[in-house]
Amino acid sequence: MILVQIDGLKAYYTVEQDGQFRNIRAVDDVSLEIEENDFLAIVGESGCGKSTLAKVLYGALDPALKIVDGNVRLAFGDYKYEISPKGNTLPEAWWERISYIPQGSLSALNPVRKIDQIFRDLLLSHNLPFDIKSIEEHLNLLNLSRQVLKMYPFELSGGMKQRVVIALATFLNPKIIIADEPTSALDVVTQNDILELLSLLHNSKKICFVFITHDISLIPNLANMMVVMYCGNFVESGTVDELFSNPLHPYTRFLLSSIPKIGDKTEKKPIPGSIVSLINPPSGCKFHSRCPYKSDLCGNSKPPMIKVGSNKHEVACWLYR
Ligand code: ATP
Ligand code: SF4
Ligand code: MG
Repeated sequence: MILVQIDGLKAYYTVEQDGQFRNIRAVDDVSLEIEENDFLAIVGESGCGKSTLAKVLYGALDPALKIVDGNVRLAFGDYKYEISPKGNTLPEAWWERISYIPQGSLSALNPVRKIDQIFRDLLLSHNLPFDIKSIEEHLNLLNLSRQVLKMYPFELSGGMKQRVVIALATFLNPKIIIADEPTSALDVVTQNDILELLSLLHNSKKICFVFITHDISLIPNLANMMVVMYCGNFVESGTVDELFSNPLHPYTRFLLSSIPKIGDKTEKKPIPGSIVSLINPPSGCKFHSRCPYKSDLCGNSKPPMIKVGSNKHEVACWLYR
């Protein structure tokens, strides 16, 4: 069953530059379906729009960010809603149906509230009673002792804090969690623990994940679906197996070839050039200034996402038209 349907979504920030208002086209016409059992990984270079997409999916638009076209439709059984330029986000869905672990969430916990008070605030905002037994059981599932309830966030290690954030995000049994780089500030061992935890929650509680990461090497052990983002666009999507075994877009190939492997002494080639402006993006394929395979067509005409083969594989590149 489809949980999230993204259609032609465009979400821009409006910023003032040199006395003029300009649009940063952070999400610039993307479409995708996310099914209820998916663990979807989103990858791409810094600044390509991953966190912006996460914010829109959650409906957490900051004042500078506007949906200018397209929409996101979410369906949790009979409870359905749409996020669109009309701006009708529905916070009552938050935490109970959809949760969000924002980038930099280690600092998201209110520093002047103890963890039990933070749980109390969450429950109060949903008109639910504070039931210490069920909170303790939930913490136990996430390998956290009930002692953390009496602690302030600053008394917890980074790994414990991230577990608490995940405990809060999962406590009301959401169907989907948007996790934006949930392990980026953690050491490798703690990172592994947290990833195992996400896997456990996905498998045991059937929570769908949208997982944003810079670390592509984590994906095969976690996710079943994958999207590659470049400058506000999706350039390739499909199952993880398919994209790892048969990457087609030149950008995806660069990204995958950059994964370090133990014992591999071959020199890694950086992706040539740097990410282009999102205020005045180039015409045609936005990757053309960096692409070794570009043709005249690439600079003039934007390649659409086209289906290639099976495994939901789609790619936006004129090489496969
Ligand atoms: P990273 O991997 O570094 O987290 P990202 O892919 O998540 O990057 P976004 O945070 O979505 O990228 O940013 C996309 C673009 O939008 C960037 O050019 C960024 O500077 C811009 N941007 C992000 N947040 C804002 C904001 N609040 N106001 C204005 N511009 C913003
Ligand atoms: Fe390269 Fe052209 Fe494909 Fe863009 S459309 S990735 S420039 S070959
Ligand atoms: Mg980000």
